[in-house]
Amino acid sequence: MDGNQRVAVVSGAARGIGAAIAKRLSSDGLGVAVLDLDESACAETVDSIREAGGRALAVGADVSDEAGVEAAIARIVDELGAPTVVVNNAGITRDNLLFKMSVDDWDAVMSVHLRGAFLLSRAAQKYMVEQKWGRIVNLSSTSALGNRGQANYSAAKAGMQGLTKTLAVELGPFGVTANAIAPGFIVTEMTAATAERIGVSFEDFKASVAAETPVRRIGVPEDIAHTASFLVSEGAGFVSGQVIYVAGGPKG
Ligand code: NAP
Repeated sequence: MDGNQRVAVVSGAARGIGAAIAKRLSSDGLGVAVLDLDESACAETVDSIREAGGRALAVGADVSDEAGVEAAIARIVDELGAPTVVVNNAGITRDNLLFKMSVDDWDAVMSVHLRGAFLLSRAAQKYMVEQKWGRIVNLSSTSALGNRGQANYSAAKAGMQGLTKTLAVELGPFGVTANAIAPGFIVTEMTAATAERIGVSFEDFKASVAAETPVRRIGVPEDIAHTASFLVSEGAGFVSGQVIYVAGGPKG
């Protein structure tokens, strides 16, 4: 184990935005715990990091499960090193109009995003405080501003912003920053599922979103990874409690 290398935990890193963030933080020089529900699903991200010469560990855990998160962090400390960077990226959607939204769909979304970010941040903060350095990056969304069919998701993503600001206030004295990234439309399996739900082809969906976006394109996971890389960097230590909309135009 390289005792001087910073270690990051990225949740939901088997694919999509989380996988891009994990790879980017590795190329920035960090050891990366690639955490997702199914450990075997992390293999692709982990292999790609190792092939590029980085250090990565696949960790299977449900971020909404307290004991599972504690065990995951203990394993990361043992096998990779004490984590001082947490990227709370794991997420799900359970979209429906309010009158059709079930309590289960409400609770599932709250659990993964909010309870998950709380549990993972709480479990890792000890190591950040010990080292008097840390970075927490939470994935919010432009949906935090309101989005039809997403009462649960938009509430959770607005909650991520409140959590971020409080973590920034509480942990700032220990050299820890906390910031949120609020992506617009990013091409992943999540947005492909949204297209399917609303009954349009993914290609048409992408084209219509690009046409409405000031920079005239849709986002890719690397756009979010680039922003996460900045927030985690040494030089970003005076940026804390912020929400950065990464949406190809002004939001918020
Ligand atoms: P994605 O492709 O659906 O990937 C999400 C990952 O999180 C999946 O690998 C999923 O695992 C994992 N996950 C789900 N529940 C989990 C749990 N309880 N514990 C651990 N891992 C869990 O999503 P994405 O588009 O990359 O989104 C990543 C983050 O960005 C999410 O927080 C999302 O809300 C946010 N975001 C995305 C967009 C966008 O346009 N794509 C826009 C704004 C914000 P399984 O495959 O096993 O379910």
